[in-house]
Parts: sequence; C-alpha cells; structure tokens
Amino acid sequence: MECDHCFVWGSPHSSGTMSIERVRSILRQARDVPSIEWIYFEGGEPFLHYPLLVQAVTESHEAGFKVGIVTNAYWATSVADALLWLQPLAGRISDFSVSSDLFHSDQPSSPESENAAVAARRLGMPVGIISVRDDTLMYRGRAAEKLVHGRIHHPWERFSTCPHENLAEPGRVHVDPFGNIHICQGIVVGNLFNAELKRICDEYDPATHPIAGPIVREGPAGLVRHHRLPIDDEYVDACHLCYSARVALRERDSEFLVPDQMYGRFARRD
Ligand code: SF4
Repeated sequence: MECDHCFVWGSPHSSGTMSIERVRSILRQARDVPSIEWIYFEGGEPFLHYPLLVQAVTESHEAGFKVGIVTNAYWATSVADALLWLQPLAGRISDFSVSSDLFHSDQPSSPESENAAVAARRLGMPVGIISVRDDTLMYRGRAAEKLVHGRIHHPWERFSTCPHENLAEPGRVHVDPFGNIHICQGIVVGNLFNAELKRICDEYDPATHPIAGPIVREGPAGLVRHHRLPIDDEYVDACHLCYSARVALRERDSEFLVPDQMYGRFARRD
C-alpha cells in the first residue's frame, strides 16, 4: 500500500528493515537515556515484519519500557484471526493504536480495524483509534505532493511557527531502519549506529542545528529565509511549506535531510 497522506512515503519500494540486532542496539542505547519511557513500533506498517515485531515488543517490555504499536490492521481479517495475531503480544502492550479512516480504507471504519480493536480489548490492551480527517491532515511527505491540489493555499510568510513538534525540546524521536534519529520525519539529528544515542541527545543544540534552529526561531518561514530557498508564493499549511523548503534545501545536499526515501526518492531495485 502507498497511502496518499503518509509522512514517511511508506511504500513497497522502500528499502531498509529493522533487524533484531538493530532493535537490540537501539534498546540498549535507549536504556542509557533516563527520560525514554516508551518505545513505539510504527511504520509504514509494523505487522509486515511480524516475527521481528513480536520479538522486539517482548524485549522492549522486558527491558522495562512501556510499548505502543500503530497499525492499519490489514491483518485482522476476522476477530478470531486478530486474536491469533495479537495473543503473542498480550500483556506487553500499553497502547494499541489502530489507524482507521478514508485515507487507509475505502470505508470510514474498516472491518479490519474493528476486528483488531475487538480482539485487542479482549486481550486487555488499551485501544486507541487514529482517524485522519481532512481538517487534521498534515501536508508533509507524500501528502505534500498528492493531497495539496484544490486545497486553500496561504502566503508562505504566515507560517512562522511549527504547530506540531517541539523541536527545541523534543518529547519523542523517530528511529528509521538505518539508525537515523528524526525529530520530525525527515529532519535528522544523528545516527545511533554511528554514535551513542545518549551523546546525540546530550549534544543536540536546536540553536545551531541548520534545520531545527530556523524553525524554532521563526517556523518554516524562518527556514526559507535563513537558507534563502526558492519556493512558491503560497502553501496549504506549515508542514507543506516546511517539507517543500526541505526538498529545495536537499538540492544543496544537507546531511540532516535523509534518507532519500523519506523524500520520495527510492533506490532502484533490479
Ligand atoms: S512544520 Fe515542519 S517541523 Fe513542524 S511538524 Fe510540520 S514538517 Fe515537522
């Protein structure tokens, strides 16, 4: 599947998959950062790698983290089948979030999401439903290319704050299969396969980060001004401007705007 609204350009053409050794390295490093309480497995779609997911959830739980999963529940073809998929995770999940909306399915509430929610509740998992609506869309990643046409656009100068992430003091980070640590999808502060996560966290300084710094000070409009980027006059929302500005900045080869596939550039696989 390639959902139009996906921040991370999730796709069958994506490369890179977590291995159990990579998961163990991440968990070991996460234990060294006392403020990390939760580990979430999200994607793309984490159930595509089911045996690895089960083992990684088990080891995260045993390491003392609270564990969450975000899934589109494609696998929950009936309640009985959903119970089979979820039983090995029972007792280890503190947040089971199911995406269910017209961006993931041709029905507002897919039968699969309902089956998964019923099964998860039976197994005692706290269940949340994530529903993206037109008025809650964020136009970044694939959404910035696929969903902006026909939407109301505004002058770029008005997007002077980041409305969704606290880049000055991030409360969460995302780790991709290559070890890149993202403070917002596509904005990287380091790679935990090259340096220790604790050191990356300790050394992160939003004031000097070439992407986060301008956004913290003046939002995506500040990013445009700081780097003197060639852009259009109008954008749908702050993320649309931010993502588009970053795409323009990547032309200058920014090491902080990776991996390529987070920007819709997939390596050819012959
Ligand atoms: S404005 Fe930029 S940094 Fe803030 S949430 Fe949107 S894409 Fe992320």
